[in-house]
Amino acid sequence: MESPGAEPPEDGTKRTGNRIVIRMPYFDSKRQARQVSRLVIACTVLFLGTMWAAIGYFVTESRAARISEEQRVLARMARMVEEQTHALFSFVDYFLVAADSRFEKHPRSDPRTDPDFRVMMDNFRARTQGFVDIRFVSADGTLYYRGDTDGQGRAQVDDRDYYQAQMQSPPHGLFIAQPVLSRYTNRWGLPISYPLKARPHGIAVIFAAIENIAFSEPFEAARTKPNGSIVLVHQDGTILFRSPEAGLIGKSLRGSGLWNDENRTRNEGVFELTTGTSDGLARIGAFVKVPDYPLVAIATSSLDDTLSEWHTKATGLVAFGIAATLAGIAVLWRLRSSLRYLDSTQRELMAQANIDDLTQIANRRFFMLHSSQELERCLRYERPLSLLIYDVDHFKRINDDYGHETGDLTLKAITQAVQDELRATDLQARIGGEEFAVLLPETGLSKAVEVAERLRARIEKMTYVNMDKRDAPITVSVGIAAYANGNETLDELIARTDRALYRAKAGGRNRVCADFIA
Ligand code: GH3
Ligand code: MG
Ligand code: MG
Repeated sequence: MESPGAEPPEDGTKRTGNRIVIRMPYFDSKRQARQVSRLVIACTVLFLGTMWAAIGYFVTESRAARISEEQRVLARMARMVEEQTHALFSFVDYFLVAADSRFEKHPRSDPRTDPDFRVMMDNFRARTQGFVDIRFVSADGTLYYRGDTDGQGRAQVDDRDYYQAQMQSPPHGLFIAQPVLSRYTNRWGLPISYPLKARPHGIAVIFAAIENIAFSEPFEAARTKPNGSIVLVHQDGTILFRSPEAGLIGKSLRGSGLWNDENRTRNEGVFELTTGTSDGLARIGAFVKVPDYPLVAIATSSLDDTLSEWHTKATGLVAFGIAATLAGIAVLWRLRSSLRYLDSTQRELMAQANIDDLTQIANRRFFMLHSSQELERCLRYERPLSLLIYDVDHFKRINDDYGHETGDLTLKAITQAVQDELRATDLQARIGGEEFAVLLPETGLSKAVEVAERLRARIEKMTYVNMDKRDAPITVSVGIAAYANGNETLDELIARTDRALYRAKAGGRNRVCADFIA
């Protein structure tokens, strides 16, 4: 026994809604939404991809361009330092060689006191702006300044490399020594020694001590600020002069990335060192070997200083890229929810236009549309099709006796019961107040009569439990007609079915009448 009144109406409605699936092939908003969003996603991804590629290209290219531009400047600077260094060293070289040949000619004169040589030294000192001092070492390793001969309290320098190099046999010749921190001035100096072959008055070695200041002033003026450096390095890696000093004079560059085999075979070159620099700063730079002497001039800039402008630009660009990407994602997100909203409202509208609100089965509009398509299909493939129309008997009384709401629940219960009996391809629709049609494709008249009888019998067993607990029987009258393949229109088929229904009503109701004319 089915008792629709015993169930909450919402549940009945929902269940009915779930079970009645009406296919609506006329407009697939979901597919369209999917296509549109795919297109927009593809365009956005393409746009963002191109944008990021452009940003990446610009950022790496402009970095490389900035570095090579700075390296060109540094190469010029290193060449300039190389030229100045070469000029100074060849001048010192010239003086020392000249001194040696002078004492070969005058082996009896004393280099420390000889007045002619003193004039030569004054001249030399003036030409080197007072930055270069001449000193002497006797064969036993005692250090002498000019003008002093007594040797009292003089320092012993027999452990110094500039002395030892000239005491070998044969002597080294022009020798650029390790830098020395003066015990008196606390300033760095660089001794360049030369042997006096004649050893006048026991003096075996003459050397020029170049004071740090000879280099620090021009180096300091030329270097890039704030963190650039200019360095003069011995070919064995020892730092001879550096601006800024940074406690690095006398230290070795061996072991730094700059001091590799490849650079050491080249006369000039550029480099970029992100690690392993002598002061821990990432640097770019250029080096030039000083011709004729075992010296290398190096000019560097800090990588951070060089790239600071680039860094600001690159950061701005990347920030712009991130903002554009976020905006793109936001647009996509917004579009997605808009499309979803459109799709759901579209579906709702479609449903409202095609589904009956009360019973949740197809409405008259959808029935007419669907049925005319089915009729065409049957005609083309010569398939059978039947139409069934049923009408609730004395429905007015249910309304009158138990109220409109009860009438509504009864209509729902009836359509649900009928739906249970149908195949998936059958279509039930509400075509009037309490009048319903069922289209039965692939069904001939006799089979349709069986279906109708089954429906009628099932509804007959239904009762409605009313408010007063009295059971009221529910019956329907059914008219049937089979589609006469030929020139019959849908309206004509409906009219014939209606006539059969009328006969069922006239014949006493709760019965099935078929139209046999076709
Ligand atoms: P018959 O056996 O001749 O068909 O008698 P009947 O009373 O069913 O037929 P009639 O056409 O006289 O009355 C139909 C009634 O159905 C009248 C109308 O108020 C009622 N009705 C139509 N639509 C609805 C509806 O959605 N809900 C309810 N509760 N009643 C409806
Ligand atoms: Mg009726
Ligand atoms: Mg009616």
